[in-house]
Amino acid sequence: MSVEPRSFEQPIYVTRPMLPEFAVFTKHLEAIWQSAILSNGGPQHVELERRLHGPLGDGHIALFNNGTNALMTAVKALDLSGEVITTPFTFAATPHALAWHGIKPVFVDIDDSTMTLDPARIEAAITERTTGIFAVHVYGNPCNVEAIGRIAQARGLKVLYDGAHAFGTKVEGQPIAAFGDATMFSFHATKLFHTAEGGAVVMNDLDLKRRMELLKNFGIADEVTVRSVGINSKMNEIQAALGLCVVDLVTAEKAKRHEIANVYRSRLGAVPSITMPRQQNPDTDSLQYFCIRIDRDVTGISRDDVYNQLKRYNIFARRYFYPLCSDYEPYRNFPDSAASNLPVAHRVGDQVLCLPFYGALGTAYAERISDIVAYVVEHGSDEVVHAA
Ligand SMILES: *Cc1c(COP(=O)(O)O)cnc(C)c1O
Repeated sequence: MSVEPRSFEQPIYVTRPMLPEFAVFTKHLEAIWQSAILSNGGPQHVELERRLHGPLGDGHIALFNNGTNALMTAVKALDLSGEVITTPFTFAATPHALAWHGIKPVFVDIDDSTMTLDPARIEAAITERTTGIFAVHVYGNPCNVEAIGRIAQARGLKVLYDGAHAFGTKVEGQPIAAFGDATMFSFHATKLFHTAEGGAVVMNDLDLKRRMELLKNFGIADEVTVRSVGINSKMNEIQAALGLCVVDLVTAEKAKRHEIANVYRSRLGAVPSITMPRQQNPDTDSLQYFCIRIDRDVTGISRDDVYNQLKRYNIFARRYFYPLCSDYEPYRNFPDSAASNLPVAHRVGDQVLCLPFYGALGTAYAERISDIVAYVVEHGSDEVVHAA
């Protein structure tokens, strides 16, 4: 391609939240006004919890005001302490949910193809202080749940999954939350399914569910009994109402994302130096992100160069996850944070680029974005003459 593609008139971001018809939401708001119940497990909350069994499975569901508080509450309910093995290739909330409780996150390298925690490296990081494994289903790619489960069982460790990206993901026909002791889902506006802010933990153990419900409401058991050092991390009725409107839109949204993924796959697949993500199936994958990889040694242009040049075309791609959590100030002095301990994560973190990916983008824009990405990559690090 030699003709430089046109840039976008308006900025194109990596995502845009699904929004229901305003009138659909206000109907729910009317019901809330009628009930005069705004929080503490009201009718909207009860109904959303019920509806989410469809995408999240038969486990017990606890709803939260955001995904980070859901994680923090799960870490406490699982009684994790000392050291917990986790991945550096994730969002800040993952290690923070441990460190906030005074637990040391021990960073272990990732697998190059799934970009999730590499089970082959877990054993070597286990010490007598290790109490759990906290892995992340990055972009909705399932971790190697079988191998992680085997190690945890053999070593008596708890398993917590950060499934912030994995709404509706299935592994061999089973919902992703069937694996591990607990799985967190984020319902932040940037996630596929959202409640503006919100989250959930899904678990199989009823006692754990009871502890979670207690902890998310100050540890209050009844009017005169406070049983544990709880917090307030409850989802309110307005969040739940928005969720009830948005959950109806998920299937159509995924169908549109699938079409966009097909455009990216066919157009960018023709650029041999770009590594494509694995093909996702809307029935079993979340389609949370579409993340390509750019290897400077192959393309002659670095990911950062592509990222910066795309901005000149009004395309704001995101480098999820760069920098690695192990390079954040609170963690970078840990011995396990050394780059030599995390070579795959560093390589992957330097290559990933998430492209705009949301239903309302439409296939015509996806075609234009593909052409711009292909043009930028193929013209290498040469200064691209930008048509004003
Ligand atoms: C979004 C996200 C979270 C945090 O969820 P919030 O609901 O924003 O608090 C945690 N982990 C990962 C991997 C995320 O992408």
